[in-house]
Amino acid sequence: MKDGLSAKSIYRKDYMVYPWDINQLDLYFDIGSESTIVRAEMKFHLKDEEKATQDIVLNGSDLQLVSLSLNGRVLRGDDYTIDGETLTIPGAPVKSVLKTEVKIHPASNSALEGLYLSGAFLLTQCEAQGFRKITWFPDRPDVMTTYRVTMEAARSEFPVLLSNGNEEASGDLPAGRHWVRWHDPFPKPTYLFALVAGDLALVEDHFETRSGRDVVLRIYVEVENLDRCGHAMESLINAMHWDEERFDLEYDLDIYHVVATNDFNMGAMENKSLNIFNSKYVLARPDTATDADYQGIEGVIGHEYFHNWTGNRVTCRDWFELTLKEGLTVFRDEEFSADMQSRAVKRIRVIRDLRSRQFPEDDGPMAHPIRPDHYVEINNFYTATVYQKGATIIRMYHTLLGESGFQKGMKLYFERHDGQAVTCDDFLAAMADANGVNLDRFGRWYSQSGTPQVHISDHYDAATQKYTLTLKQHTPATRDQKSKKALVIPFAVGLLTTNGEDLPLQLENETDATGGTRLLVMEEAQQEYVFINIPEAPVPSLFRDYSAPVKVFYDYSPMQLATLIAYDSDAYVRWDAAQRMAQGAILEQCQRLADGKDMRLDSSLLMAFRGILSDRLADPALLAEAMILPDEDYLAEQMEVVDVDGIHVARKFIKKGLANDLASLFAKRYTELNDGQHYQKTPGAMAHRALKNVCLSYLLDTDAGESLAVAQLESSDNMTDTLAAINGLILVDSPMAGAALSEFEIKWKEDALVMDKWFTMQAIKPGPDTVNRVKELMQHPAFSIQNPNKVRSLIGVFAMLNPTGFHAADDSGYEFHADRVIELDGLNPQIAARMASAFNRWKRYDDDRKKLMKAQLQRIAVVDGLSGDVSEIINNALR
Ligand SMILES: [Zn+2]
Repeated sequence: MKDGLSAKSIYRKDYMVYPWDINQLDLYFDIGSESTIVRAEMKFHLKDEEKATQDIVLNGSDLQLVSLSLNGRVLRGDDYTIDGETLTIPGAPVKSVLKTEVKIHPASNSALEGLYLSGAFLLTQCEAQGFRKITWFPDRPDVMTTYRVTMEAARSEFPVLLSNGNEEASGDLPAGRHWVRWHDPFPKPTYLFALVAGDLALVEDHFETRSGRDVVLRIYVEVENLDRCGHAMESLINAMHWDEERFDLEYDLDIYHVVATNDFNMGAMENKSLNIFNSKYVLARPDTATDADYQGIEGVIGHEYFHNWTGNRVTCRDWFELTLKEGLTVFRDEEFSADMQSRAVKRIRVIRDLRSRQFPEDDGPMAHPIRPDHYVEINNFYTATVYQKGATIIRMYHTLLGESGFQKGMKLYFERHDGQAVTCDDFLAAMADANGVNLDRFGRWYSQSGTPQVHISDHYDAATQKYTLTLKQHTPATRDQKSKKALVIPFAVGLLTTNGEDLPLQLENETDATGGTRLLVMEEAQQEYVFINIPEAPVPSLFRDYSAPVKVFYDYSPMQLATLIAYDSDAYVRWDAAQRMAQGAILEQCQRLADGKDMRLDSSLLMAFRGILSDRLADPALLAEAMILPDEDYLAEQMEVVDVDGIHVARKFIKKGLANDLASLFAKRYTELNDGQHYQKTPGAMAHRALKNVCLSYLLDTDAGESLAVAQLESSDNMTDTLAAINGLILVDSPMAGAALSEFEIKWKEDALVMDKWFTMQAIKPGPDTVNRVKELMQHPAFSIQNPNKVRSLIGVFAMLNPTGFHAADDSGYEFHADRVIELDGLNPQIAARMASAFNRWKRYDDDRKKLMKAQLQRIAVVDGLSGDVSEIINNALR
């Protein structure tokens, strides 16, 4: 599997049931950082009792085999075969007990899969296929068994020994050693196994479930972080309450552990009762974490907790079904955050994320449906498509069936499948059967990749007072699928008067007019809807609440957009109208620039911004979102051939123009919001900070900005305001930026998470010189290429969020990044593959850049011993 050339695709259609049941797995760990001994005893029972014998097939990787015995007989070399990651024992009897002993080496495990070392402790990461790096076992999600785990270690070095389930027994051993035994009564797949051993401190709280179970909640961290766990604990308790109230789901064990580590490939992991988290999603104090960090922690703590039902109690049959647990659980965490914070702001952030991360995936070399049909390396399919688009598909069930219909479906899903490993088809069937509806056509969303386009035209007939909307859907071919079918697309619309009031809606065949929003459900390639009794040509408010993962095309006039921005009752439509207007203005200037014409500022955009800045009624966080201009990557997606520099210059021109024309309004709003209040964690205070800092970012494009930013920095009592000020100074190239950065560095140099922000601020600075700064920063004592958070915050940010740096015309960004992909591949293939995907969109650039990027891809492709992870990404990009 390490050799890219021999890496083979695995197909969903090839699924076969594992022939054995394994009722019990006993694991024994003799823990040491340099080497750990793992003994396993598993009881096999052949499912098909008609057969007398069957081969036992196990998975393992990088294991030093010490011994192997079957039914009490030690197996010798010719009793079994090992081929790559597969061990086969031929002809085992119907009931078989297999015992294994292996040695593994946590300290030298830099891939951070299996058992590895992080600071002062050892921990595991088993999703998707890390368990095979711990011991031989059928490492697939449909083999579920109960675990009993005994750990033994030196007490001084490893005072804390944790695994899944409840602690069953513990004791002392000679020579300062001790042991602990854990038992998890719920059968689970290997990917949910976890173990933690080391010197950790803890904070503790309690939660009483609705039926009266007292659950002990513990968050384990390194001792210096004890004062940063409060928000995570509060979020956990809120999540437990919320899941009882909204989904009628209770927690099922007496203990819930969260462990925070600085060394983690992902965000967090939902191991049964022993969640392991990237410390980024646990640790927060107002002076170290931004509002976005606080919201991220709430969301991820919720997400992993919600997996206890959607993922753990009902799990996936195989990894093709990943979206079964992830799409559903992301939907649940989005709803949790929406109920805790502002629903509208949460929706807009989710939609922005989907459009800027998932849409490019559909349009790129790794395009795949939310349920892929094949893969080489499953780690490459933890994608925005499987997660974020998957969640949008779940949201469509919710839109079509309503909250009560959706909950009926969830109930039936758990009734039918608790304790099972199932498929997306089973989920769809539960939703359909519980509601007595046919969802067969809806099921196409699981197998079809690509972003559907909905093109809309309209016609108003004053004589008959009829308004006709014609919707056409079309999904462009993707790299993985040429032909596409019509999909079920829920599409909510409203119609506004020119004064911005919702008109009552009545379709041609209806007797009465109802409400201001109508959900149309498109099922065919083209459909027509005729609204009657419409007294004037209306302004269409299309696609309210963003009811499907599609692109909507309608030729809005500037007046229509202005009406929607000012008056629409739907927050998404207001925001989207402002984004459309800004996008149109920026892309127009980009074109003028290319044509050698002077750029100019659009008057309707100025008017819209004037309205937003004068609005004292709407949620300030929504106003902030409306004034954040579309980012350069999103704008790039809208162009046939990406004009990297043109987009940058045009966007800057528009921002500066708005800032200077509306300087007094920005200043007034900023002063109102900068009211000297002390930090508060409430959604209201966060909304104020959001709008204040958007105003500051515009003011920094005026003469007044620098002194305001410096003053904000000096008086700031929280990381949100601090970062906004320093980032702003850096982006406008202020001479004050250097001093602000070095003060920040001196203050936080010992703090890994805060230093990630320091790296990011510098990596994101536009322009071709930044690559040299990034190279220098790699030598900084706080940087380590072995640490995924560091790699993401410096190298990842440079390649993915700094278009004028990464795409520098002289190849310096590409060459640097390709070197890093190659370097990382030898350490951590999973992270290397993520980084390699920065080249995925190379075909969309001009010929010179295309040539340069292709050459770097080819350079990576021929590296000796390239991992399957990276070779899948690179070969797909080159194909
Ligand atoms: Zn998840």
